[in-house]
Amino acid sequence: MGKGKGSIGDAFAAKARFQFRLGLASLETSDMLGKYAPHIQDFETIFANMIEDGSYTAEKITAKVPKLFDIILETGDALRGGSSGFAVGQTLPNWGGADGSSRDFDQATMIWLNKLLAGYTGDDLRDLNEQLLYPLLSPQVRTLLDQASSAHALAKVALHETAHTLGPRQTSIPVGGTQTRLHLLGGAAMALLNEELKADTGMGFLAYREFEQGRVSEDWIRIFVATQLAWCLNKIAAALRSGDGNYNGNVYSHIAALQFGMLSDAGLFVFDDEKAYWDINFENGNAAFETALRTTLSHYGPGNGEALAQLLDHYTTGEGSAALHFPRIIETGLHRKPVPSLSYELNGLM
Ligand SMILES: [Zn+2]
Repeated sequence: MGKGKGSIGDAFAAKARFQFRLGLASLETSDMLGKYAPHIQDFETIFANMIEDGSYTAEKITAKVPKLFDIILETGDALRGGSSGFAVGQTLPNWGGADGSSRDFDQATMIWLNKLLAGYTGDDLRDLNEQLLYPLLSPQVRTLLDQASSAHALAKVALHETAHTLGPRQTSIPVGGTQTRLHLLGGAAMALLNEELKADTGMGFLAYREFEQGRVSEDWIRIFVATQLAWCLNKIAAALRSGDGNYNGNVYSHIAALQFGMLSDAGLFVFDDEKAYWDINFENGNAAFETALRTTLSHYGPGNGEALAQLLDHYTTGEGSAALHFPRIIETGLHRKPVPSLSYELNGLM
């Protein structure tokens, strides 16, 4: 199937046509995760120690190196890099063990990457990015995004899923007594939000450990940070779809706002007022992700839903949202970019 012709305007009505390739084992990323296995207990201790009130003690983790599959859905001819595509990771079972609740990874655990690329429109997604996303980014960041590959995207998914296995997890967080509209999300949604925030900031923290240990290059970590900036901006923009400045996103859009806000406050993402775009101050990268993870985990210990809701309000409707420059995002039209939608069913894996 080839890609069709069209314009951005058509994209909103266009239906995706896709072909897919299935079950390409990713040796490169399996190898990377294999190097993690001996250190997983150390990381668990690091995560536990970041919880300041001491309410969580490191658990014993027996991790089996997951089998990694690179599943590629192509909605057109072009296979593009991670920042331009759409990645989904799934660990099966998410928490390990036969009943899904145990930490013993005694079954095969898999991490998946689905890439939904270049589709939804006759135009390339790359063209959409150039028109809608790139005006928000410095030349340095654009160059890095152009270098991102599907291997980068899969490594991100792998690190995100690894971070899910570390530190505490909760099925519900009491939403507390503040008057935030985020209480409407409910305790389970707040717990999911907190869990995903842990995984995604944890991913950044682990990526910097990779760099520190010399397992990835400086170029790799720069591309990683650039793709995370792009991911956050796309998700934030999706929550601004109404165009009136109200923030109405899904869980991941909220994670993006929190992460983007925390990383901006820590000096990693820097908005240039004159040029009206973001740049990255790489010198602050390691410390920024560590601070973001520490802040995230500090909400875990007591399951403090009120603190989490306040943090959300701060970055989506409150003072902190200034750093996210919603009007500038809406000005470029990024909020109207088509959002990939994907549902899938997994059978016969156990
Ligand atoms: Zn996740």
